[in-house]
Amino acid sequence: MLSIKNLQARIEEKEILKGINLEIKAGEVHAIMGPNGSGKSTLASVLAGRSDYEVTGGTVEFQGKDLLELAPEDRAREGVFLAFQYPIEIPGVSTTNFIKTAVNEVRKYRGEEPMDAVAFLKKMKEKMKLVEIDQSLLSRSLNEGFSGGEKKRNEIFQMAMLEPKFAILDETDSGLDIDALRIVAEGVNKLKSKDNATLVITHYQRLLEYIVPDYVHVLYKGRIVKSGGKELALELEEKGYDFIKEELGEEV
Ligand code: ADP
Ligand code: MG
Ligand code: MG
Repeated sequence: MLSIKNLQARIEEKEILKGINLEIKAGEVHAIMGPNGSGKSTLASVLAGRSDYEVTGGTVEFQGKDLLELAPEDRAREGVFLAFQYPIEIPGVSTTNFIKTAVNEVRKYRGEEPMDAVAFLKKMKEKMKLVEIDQSLLSRSLNEGFSGGEKKRNEIFQMAMLEPKFAILDETDSGLDIDALRIVAEGVNKLKSKDNATLVITHYQRLLEYIVPDYVHVLYKGRIVKSGGKELALELEEKGYDFIKEELGEEV
C-alpha cells in the first residue's frame, strides 16, 4: 500500500528526515515511536503534503501512485487521512456539515454522486454507534469549545466516516490524557480492516497498551534505527530511549 524509500526532508535549512525506509501493507498497523524532536511529526506532515517541508530526496509510493506528486487535497481524496495534532476550530460550521462536505468531495473525486441525505444519515448513525460519539457533539461548530477527549472522538469519527485507506495519527507529546488515548486506541482497533492500514505516531508507550501494532519502529534523529514487533514497545517502556542510544554507540 505504502512504500517509503530513502525519504529526506528539511524545514527551512534544517535537515530533519535523513533517509526513511518503510513498507506498509494493507491490513497492518504500524507504530512510530521516538524521543521528542526526532522527526515524527515531520514525517506525518510530509506524507500529508504540508507545504512548509521540503522533500530533498527519496520516494513515496501509495497504491502505485507517486504520493509526493499529489497535492495535499488529492492525497486526502486518494484515501490518505491525517489526524491533526491540533484540530482546527471552524465557528459556524457544524461538525456534521464539515464531514458531509469531506465525504462528498472524496466521492466526487472518484466520479460518484454525492451521498443522498438518507444514506448519509444512516452512515452517520452506524459510525456514531461504532465510535461512541454523542449526537449533540456533531451539531456543534467544528471543534469549538471541545474538550481534548471530544476533539479526539470527533477526529476518530471523521476517520470512520471517510473510511481512509491509510490513516496517520500523530499524537502530541503533551496534553493527551488517558481517556483521550483510549478513545484513539479503541477507534483504531475498531476501524482496522484487511483493506486499510494505519500509522500511529506516538511518544508514549502507553498508547500501545491499547492499540496492538503489528510493527513498531523507532525514529531517532531522522532515521528509523530499530524495527520490531509489539514487544519493542514494551522494551522501550521498560528501558526508555537510552537503550537505543547505547545500541547506536552514543553516550548516555
Ligand atoms: P517530533 O514530532 O518527533 O517531536 P518534529 O518532527 O516535530 O519532531 O521536529 C523535528 C525537528 O525539526 C526538531 O528538531 C524541531 O525543532 C525541528 N522543527 C520542527 N518544526 C520546525 C520549524 N517550523 N522550523 C524549524 N525547525 C523545526
Ligand atoms: Mg515534538
Ligand atoms: Mg511531534
